[in-house]
Amino acid sequence: MTEPDIARRKELAAAIAEVEERIAAACAAAGRARDEVRLIGITKTFPAADAALLTDLGLRNLGENRDQEAGPKAAEVAELRPDAAPRWHMVGRLQRNKARSVVRWADEVQSVDSARLADALGRAMAAARDAGERTEPLDVLIQVSLDGDTARGGTPLGEVRALADHITHVGELRLRGVMAVAPLGDDPGTAFARLAQAAESLRADYPEADVVSAGMSHDLDQAIRHGSTCVRVGTALLGRRGLASP
Ligand SMILES: *Cc1c(COP(=O)(O)O)cnc(C)c1O
Repeated sequence: MTEPDIARRKELAAAIAEVEERIAAACAAAGRARDEVRLIGITKTFPAADAALLTDLGLRNLGENRDQEAGPKAAEVAELRPDAAPRWHMVGRLQRNKARSVVRWADEVQSVDSARLADALGRAMAAARDAGERTEPLDVLIQVSLDGDTARGGTPLGEVRALADHITHVGELRLRGVMAVAPLGDDPGTAFARLAQAAESLRADYPEADVVSAGMSHDLDQAIRHGSTCVRVGTALLGRRGLASP
């Protein structure tokens, strides 16, 4: 490794240790086991070299929010670290015409918020299977809008059940749970409590849909208190993104 690589690796190791400490403290405070919460490193806007270093440091799960950026990055990480095989999560808004591309790199899509998108992913998966690109179904989460402002993505709370029913009838998709981003200007705790309730009623009908993806750099502690099983952390691991970046 070059000197800058060594320095960056040290920086990332320290950041992981800090985030791990927060996760452990939040789990302990909530009376939960550490292994109930998965950490996804959100590598958007950061280079494949950083993602590769994260896998060196033990991160098994990586996430991205834009297909155009993620596809090439995932391929580059696979070249840099052929044995790492991280699990890639799509966490951003997804247009239906990107479905075919997304299933080439994503193991899980956390941002399914409409029946039409689910249908497009089902068709894309069928094509990927025919092309020999995939053998396993695609894991999906329903993105929930906790304040009903669906312009920022997500399906309203009242429509989660209907979308779940739809998804479980689409071939090639495996419904694994729910995902949400805390609304701007709302107390994250209140919002995450609403998500926990939605997750619980979903599990009553679909017991295997047990993932609750909630919590980012600034609110992962509250998310874990309210039952998150999956935190998506970018800034606290990799540093601040450029101003112009999403
Ligand atoms: C960018 C992003 C994250 C990570 O946000 P940070 O505040 O940098 O930790 C999590 N979830 C989604 C959907 C994102 O787009």
